[in-house]
Amino acid sequence: MGFEDPSLTLSIAGARPIVIKRVDAIPVALPLSQPMKMAHLTITTADNLLVRIESEDGVVGWGEAASAPSLTGETQAGMVATVRDWMAPALIGQDARLRAALMRRLSRAVYAATGSKSAIELALTDLVARTLCVPMALLLGGLFRDSVEPMWLLGGGSADKTVEEARRKKDEGYTFFKLKAGIRPVEEEAACAVAVRRAVGDAMKICADANSGFTAASARRYIAQSTDASLLFLEQALPASELDALTALARESAIPLCSDQSVHSIADIAVHADRGVRGVALKLLKFGGIEPTLKAAALCEARGINMVIAAKIAESSIASAAMAHVACAVPLIDWGVSLTHVYLAEDVVKTKLVMRDGRVALPDGPGFGLTVDEAAVERCRVRALS
Ligand SMILES: [Mg+2]
Repeated sequence: MGFEDPSLTLSIAGARPIVIKRVDAIPVALPLSQPMKMAHLTITTADNLLVRIESEDGVVGWGEAASAPSLTGETQAGMVATVRDWMAPALIGQDARLRAALMRRLSRAVYAATGSKSAIELALTDLVARTLCVPMALLLGGLFRDSVEPMWLLGGGSADKTVEEARRKKDEGYTFFKLKAGIRPVEEEAACAVAVRRAVGDAMKICADANSGFTAASARRYIAQSTDASLLFLEQALPASELDALTALARESAIPLCSDQSVHSIADIAVHADRGVRGVALKLLKFGGIEPTLKAAALCEARGINMVIAAKIAESSIASAAMAHVACAVPLIDWGVSLTHVYLAEDVVKTKLVMRDGRVALPDGPGFGLTVDEAAVERCRVRALS
């Protein structure tokens, strides 16, 4: 196929172009430390797309997005083909400093495909930041902070196990828990939320995420029976299509509601704000990359909507570090930050993002700040799709 746009050019005195030499779409399968159980879905392996973009100067930028067909409609094989056959030809020979214009070109060439676009935009941004030797966050409008307090995802199992895990993670320094809900009987899950609250004390921030697993009636029972858990918010109680039921629930719920699977665009945020939802989950792979996610964050701020800044279950330290940079460039992150590399048994960087005293600091290096272990990438590569 061909692209009819002329080559984009940029002349800045004293600044060399960052010419894209090659773009690789690399499918990887990353094993989770233990299966992640959610409503309607159990994940044992993260089937992700890595994007590697190399400049003519030999600098390499990396991007990543999980394949999440139930969230974005993209399969791993489809993402490989989208990047290899449609996006790479539009990028090779172009100047990566024009990444905003290049992303607009990709948006015209391919509808939706938000995970593929996000992986590309992360790699372009990483490439530019590494070439300029600056942290990625400095290209995103600047820093509000240089570390985040990540949340830990709890639950899916029995109340006893969940309470035991909560105690252990509190001891490790976590200050924010998200309870998975919509999986077991409502009464058990509400009792579990209350038991976790009693075990970890009043200072802990706790929210719950039903991943569309409740009905309007079961959501009402969960909200009523979990009162003593003092949940900060309840995420995606109902299926995405049930907007009228969501409006009614938001009107009467004692717990603020948050939307995730039903919010994929700035227009969706406005719709949900109008219907009484008090927060939304921002994920790079839903919005199609950093720039649209930051625009979404600006709208949230203007509308007084809270944000959960989240990687997808589970993305490696590449996407998780990029998410941390985004979280440091967003003014308000009161509803938490979810970094998901911690659920993986194998990562693809030489030194992982680490938490100290409950906080994950932005790593010191340029770009997203970590060094990719290309041998680990090869070990995890899905050869059947490459
Ligand atoms: Mg969610």
